[in-house]
Amino acid sequence: MEKRVYDLIDSYQDDFVHTLRRWVQVPSVKADAAPGAPFGKEVRRMLDMALADADAMGFQTRGFDGYAGDITLPGGEDTVAVLGHLDVVPAGDGWMVEPFAAVMKSDKLYGRGTGDDKGPSLCALYAMRAIKEAGIPLRKSIRLILGCDEESGWEDMDYYCAHADMPDLGFSPDASFPLINTEKGMIHLYLRAPLSTEGLQVKRLWTGERVNVIPGECTALLAGGEELAQRIRTYAIRVNLPYTAEVGAEGVWVTAEGIPGHSAYPEGCRNAIGMMLLLLKELGVQGALLTLADAVGMESDGASLGVAYTDEVSGSLTCNMGILHLEDGELTTTLDMRVPITADLESLMNTALARLTGFTADVAETKAPHHVPADSELVTALLAAYAEETGEAAKPQYTGGGTYAKVLKQGVAFGAAFPDDEDLAHQAGEYVFISKMVKATKIFANALIRLAGA
Ligand SMILES: [Zn+2]
Repeated sequence: MEKRVYDLIDSYQDDFVHTLRRWVQVPSVKADAAPGAPFGKEVRRMLDMALADADAMGFQTRGFDGYAGDITLPGGEDTVAVLGHLDVVPAGDGWMVEPFAAVMKSDKLYGRGTGDDKGPSLCALYAMRAIKEAGIPLRKSIRLILGCDEESGWEDMDYYCAHADMPDLGFSPDASFPLINTEKGMIHLYLRAPLSTEGLQVKRLWTGERVNVIPGECTALLAGGEELAQRIRTYAIRVNLPYTAEVGAEGVWVTAEGIPGHSAYPEGCRNAIGMMLLLLKELGVQGALLTLADAVGMESDGASLGVAYTDEVSGSLTCNMGILHLEDGELTTTLDMRVPITADLESLMNTALARLTGFTADVAETKAPHHVPADSELVTALLAAYAEETGEAAKPQYTGGGTYAKVLKQGVAFGAAFPDDEDLAHQAGEYVFISKMVKATKIFANALIRLAGA
């Protein structure tokens, strides 16, 4: 890449830090809608600030009624898009510094939104600024699109697509390097079945709020007394898992302690509902709960359900229960399945339902898989830019989660976290290294010159 572009990016560093701190100091968490502010006044203030900053750098900017904005460096009729977002999740508990004070400690800048996604969005803006000020000739335009509702319902992109011409091709710096070109498909199933009146009786069980969360704790009230509690304690020792049992006036209260997490990333998690089901099976439960214990249990790969599947580009299918509610003689449960791109969703579902005798199913939500081929011009250009700046020849990655990139027909997630960074998105203590932000800016400039340069 041209030395002028590097030098310019280095020269922006103080300005970059100053700007990012101002951005982080706006608590752009989704709030009640106000006129001109569909996601709350702070989100609107953030959008206005970002567009004013870009304006001051000499870019063309457009606002879309508080839903989104865009910043353009003109170069031709075709457009390369960069897609970031300005909204943030709430600060949450556990911070050692004030989450919206943008505290600097040597190379680190702390604050909600530093890494997700204000810092990376700003890297893209400064990359565009360097390209502009270095006078790099372009054959395509470059457009930074800034959304305001990524963390919630993506209404920003619905509005933007309805009011602007969405480019086909580009990247979203809202994940990590090297690059994610594959997102598994998703299906959320709600399952119902009548409970059996035979065998062990479960008097109360109500675990899980969300279909895409692996629950970390499951508590149930079972019909029985001290003898049953003793059997539970013996079982806990035998399988070496944390169950507790206490005898109360109504029966035995039993708790299974799992390891919670996101359904798209079950590795390292332990589903507390699955633990409970295996215990109930051991204690002689019958009917739908037994079927569920046998067909799913503590598995997250869908093996016993008959849906285990792996392909090379997108990895393995995952399948997790998120909810188990017992009420009025009926159980309700959910399955969150993340499905490799070459699998046939319909036939997988039919296989799963055939295994779950006695259950009825409703499909609550599906998401088509998203894939941009590894040998496409986009992926090869971005990975070449990454390799030139880091010295690492990397392969594209897959995810079971969803990224903003799929808003673009040919979109991939590219940066701005590095593979060795702590993943602090949505966590307490979110921070970025300024030196890595500078590096990401250079990677983006390199990538944009490859994609849009003359
Ligand atoms: Zn994000």
